[in-house]
Amino acid sequence: MSFNLAVMLRESATSTPDKPAAYWAAGDLTYADLDRCSTEFANGLRAAGLSIGDVVCAQLPNCPEFLIAYFGTLKAGMTFLPINPLLTAPEVIYHLEDSHSKLFLAFPMVAVSAGEASASTGVPLYLLGGAAAPGQHGYDELLGDTSVHPVYGDIAPTKPESTAVLVYTSGTTGKPKGAMLSHFQLYSGCDITGNLFGMRADDVGLGVLPFFHVFGLCTVINTCIRFGASIVVIPRFEVAAVMDAVEKYRVSVVSGVPTMLQAMLSDTQERDLGALRVAISGGASLPGAVMAQFEEKFKIWVLEGYGLTETSAVAAFNRSLEERKVLSIGVPMWGADMRIVDAEGVELPRGPENVGEIVIRGPSVMTGYLGRPEATAEAFKDGWFHSGDLGYRDEDGYFFIVDRSKDLIIRGGYNVYPREIEEVLFAHPQIAEAAVIGKPDERLGEEVVAVISLVPDAQLTAEDIVAYTKTQLAAYKYPREIRFVTELPKGPTGKILKTELRD
Ligand code: AMP
Repeated sequence: MSFNLAVMLRESATSTPDKPAAYWAAGDLTYADLDRCSTEFANGLRAAGLSIGDVVCAQLPNCPEFLIAYFGTLKAGMTFLPINPLLTAPEVIYHLEDSHSKLFLAFPMVAVSAGEASASTGVPLYLLGGAAAPGQHGYDELLGDTSVHPVYGDIAPTKPESTAVLVYTSGTTGKPKGAMLSHFQLYSGCDITGNLFGMRADDVGLGVLPFFHVFGLCTVINTCIRFGASIVVIPRFEVAAVMDAVEKYRVSVVSGVPTMLQAMLSDTQERDLGALRVAISGGASLPGAVMAQFEEKFKIWVLEGYGLTETSAVAAFNRSLEERKVLSIGVPMWGADMRIVDAEGVELPRGPENVGEIVIRGPSVMTGYLGRPEATAEAFKDGWFHSGDLGYRDEDGYFFIVDRSKDLIIRGGYNVYPREIEEVLFAHPQIAEAAVIGKPDERLGEEVVAVISLVPDAQLTAEDIVAYTKTQLAAYKYPREIRFVTELPKGPTGKILKTELRD
């Protein structure tokens, strides 16, 4: 067996070349199209001077070109780095520099910030729809050459442990770090996940979760391509458009975060949704009421899973209606092992009274953080990946999440890392101290709140602070609410007590 994701695409393309890999409003992309275009893209990367192991950064929304660039990069034996289309120029620069990217692919809506990032880093920019300024390139320049390498064919030989994808995530410390996910880890993740919920070639997956995030990349793209299923590619979540697509393309597998599933409940139109068979929920706790209403309305199962960027999406899963517990994240997926440990790493006994940190070991757990041996060593203790999530295991072996020990805020399905916002706030000369916390929000799951103390005699208003953060951070990150205090509460070591702020 080859643990190469490009070979995985080739296998599906060989068995069903004429089937749509992607349903797309402006024209479908068959498996044969995806296979051919990704070979062209791989040739384009080589012609642009890139070599095996180089990093290709893509700032793209969900679109067929995302799939072409992803599999093209993998065919060339290179590493794909997908980033959020909403990132601003300074954030893109950080990702390009930290990852040592060699080529940057972006779409017209971000042409200005992408151009700025490219000019600042010297990483050549290729834009969908053509170059926007002199010195830039068009995405089409990378296509057209269908030739096959004389020695190894069109798929570069890679080792199972070669990094296929870099996904940036913050973990517990500061700025985002690149989690290195190998061909083997990603292949294991999608193969096992797909088998768990019985993915089939005749399935149609809903592709509305962002592809740049592991949940979309692994659970939607990789799983569908692995099993030869089709993906309905949707760039933005809007209830009516999503439900129209579910009906039109006869979607059978819905993957979403709880807020998406909840929003789908509001659709009141009479529809034929007979093809639907299962919904996968992950990324945040699924309220029991939402699960029950979703199952009642759509007459399908909802299975909740749990995982992180560092585990190539899924680490635990509720396997079927017969093998699930409502409100639980399920049991470790096949081949993986999970434990609840105390602060010293000692395993705790089963039972809801024994809450500790969830640690994970298994085939889909990342190699480490790119260029950060210390952060990697901190994340892996005694061979176990420390998730930073608090939970317990019940007498039957089912795991339950109690809280996130990390301070990650999940706003509308997007990760917002408080530390990143705090760094921007701390950089303002009139701000003395700042702490960013999440506040429960009915619509978005959580909202970003900044608690701030000003330097003496400062004239700064809440509006000024919001306007300032807006220039530095993507729209989904900047704080919507500012609260002023004279001093932030702190523990004995001087660490700000966020739990107190939340209370
Ligand atoms: P990410 O690295 O972006 O995938 O975020 C991972 C985090 O999402 C985990 O550390 C959890 O805090 C949270 N998460 C994922 N799945 C669940 C779930 N089913 N229930 C509660 N939290 C979850």
